[in-house]
Amino acid sequence: MQASRSGRALAAAGLVIVTAPAAVPARATAQRDARASFTVGTATAARGQRAYGVLKVPAGSDAAYDIPVAVLHGARPGPVLAVVAGSHGTEYASIVAVERLIDEVKPAELAGTLILVPIVNIASFERIVPHLNPIDGKNMNRFYPGSASGTQTDRASAVITREIIERCDHLIDFHGGDLDENLRPYSYWTVTGNKAQDEASRAMVLAFGLDHIIVSSDRPKDPSASRFLENTASTRGKPSFTAEAGRSGPVDPNDAAVLVKGVQNVLGHLKMTARTVTPVAKPIWIDPLLSVTAERDGVFHPLVDRDAHVTKGQKIGAITDYLNRPLQDVVAPDAGIVLFVRAVPSLKKGDTLASIGVVKR
Ligand SMILES: [Zn+2]
Repeated sequence: MQASRSGRALAAAGLVIVTAPAAVPARATAQRDARASFTVGTATAARGQRAYGVLKVPAGSDAAYDIPVAVLHGARPGPVLAVVAGSHGTEYASIVAVERLIDEVKPAELAGTLILVPIVNIASFERIVPHLNPIDGKNMNRFYPGSASGTQTDRASAVITREIIERCDHLIDFHGGDLDENLRPYSYWTVTGNKAQDEASRAMVLAFGLDHIIVSSDRPKDPSASRFLENTASTRGKPSFTAEAGRSGPVDPNDAAVLVKGVQNVLGHLKMTARTVTPVAKPIWIDPLLSVTAERDGVFHPLVDRDAHVTKGQKIGAITDYLNRPLQDVVAPDAGIVLFVRAVPSLKKGDTLASIGVVKR
């Protein structure tokens, strides 16, 4: 508005502005493109190119390490979308999905920039340790926005906040069933209270394509104590969401495929590609999500599979001691859908046995 008003004022004053004809020198064109190249960590991609590099997490009270990153800088300007996986380094389907996207998305066909981070938690991936970063024993999706003076997880989170979250317009965080989780695919839609932002993220989730969507409204609102990766983007005003697919170790190609297709759908939805997208027509909104946790150590015997529809009080599993003597029946706290159930017999007090999604009416 300001620019067009002053333009009219100049014309009224009789000033004639001579603009250069079509033959603008290439260097001048590049200078006018504020993002002729895009750098994340050590990766710099020129327009229409793909670049590979790392985010350097500096040494502190424990070791330094590198987080791999690919930058796909589109041939034309547009939004910046970041897709991050592997905060839990053994949620393999989500990791494989991001690795596939590095090659399947073509920068020449892209408007905007796609930042792809397939594995945040390298130590978890290498050592096959679920849930935590074995270097400092911390969950890598609980310490955002991070700290440069903390342990490795805190420092990595600070680097990701600065290099990925603050640079993007939208973020998708990928998870899935970990080694001990038999999970059905679903997304989380975060309600921040900002109507425009929530509508934008809702449209992204519906475009992504998973029809089971957990309504998440209990995450911290304070950007300086955002805890979760997606929440760090959301509390900074960036419409974002989390998606989960995959389970219990081996990569089911179908689980990786729904995540790959989901990102391609979001790219189409954001007009970053020409893809036509049909959003989910009949989403199943989950609210609340109920966790069933173990009250004692023992051996877990599930009686339901992922995606089972259970009634309130239904027996969904049993706990025995190490000599097969019954200790406890595990029952559903409410009617709902088993979004995941513990995939392994190993059990200690406080572990999650199942996650029951109550369908919002
Ligand atoms: Zn996870």
